[in-house]
Amino acid sequence: MNRTPPATVLRELRREVGFGCPIPACGNPYLTWHHFDPPWHQKEHHNPAGMIALCPEHHPKADAGAFTKEQLHEFKRSVEPRREQLKGRFDWMRHKLLAVVGGNFYYETLVPISFRGEPIVLLRRDEEGYLLLNVRMLTISKEPRTKIEDNFWISRGEPTDVESPPSGKLLKVQYANSDSLKVEFIELGSVVKASERYQNSRVEHWGIEFPVTAVEVQMKVGGTDIEFGPRESTLPGMTIRGSFFKNVVTGIQLT
Ligand SMILES: [Zn+2]
Repeated sequence: MNRTPPATVLRELRREVGFGCPIPACGNPYLTWHHFDPPWHQKEHHNPAGMIALCPEHHPKADAGAFTKEQLHEFKRSVEPRREQLKGRFDWMRHKLLAVVGGNFYYETLVPISFRGEPIVLLRRDEEGYLLLNVRMLTISKEPRTKIEDNFWISRGEPTDVESPPSGKLLKVQYANSDSLKVEFIELGSVVKASERYQNSRVEHWGIEFPVTAVEVQMKVGGTDIEFGPRESTLPGMTIRGSFFKNVVTGIQLT
């Protein structure tokens, strides 16, 4: 049996614990999957009733027997509404980043997207010249939405799913009204690797140095036509894909 549980089981386990480690006073959003009733070595299974989401600190402790089966069942049952906001951090620190937002490419362009004069996606340089990611989710709902400030992310409002694997390279947040955000950091080791990932793009003509780290941002605004998808940006009245911006202040300005 494959040790990785099916995606639907993982979603259920994440949701059950409110997207953070359920051990009291923990709440770490970087989750792993613990089989405890029965343990994996006794029986290979992916039954969510006998599994629990735990962080990379508490999972080995659980493997070592720190928590009884009854306690783990209790942790699954009794997760209270989170008092602290769910939050994490991207540890990727780079002097150069290729921002890939809605299928368009932004290099040495600190504001890939702005809306009514306010940045939606912004890279800010810290005192040491490292680029820090800032993202503001657009929404037509009145509720707060997840934001990223200088590489720190905070999940706000009531997401229906928050996916944040321990690798710390990916964040996916979804809401009931179809608002969604996905951010992923990817190492592009060479121009060949970049061409493979971004087919139909003229990567070799960009004139940028490889290897480079890409930060891919996708965002959907529920109830509107606005979507920064995996291959293109869909905006009111237009679709933009494969554009490459270099050394400009702002890439796309929405009004
Ligand atoms: Zn924990």
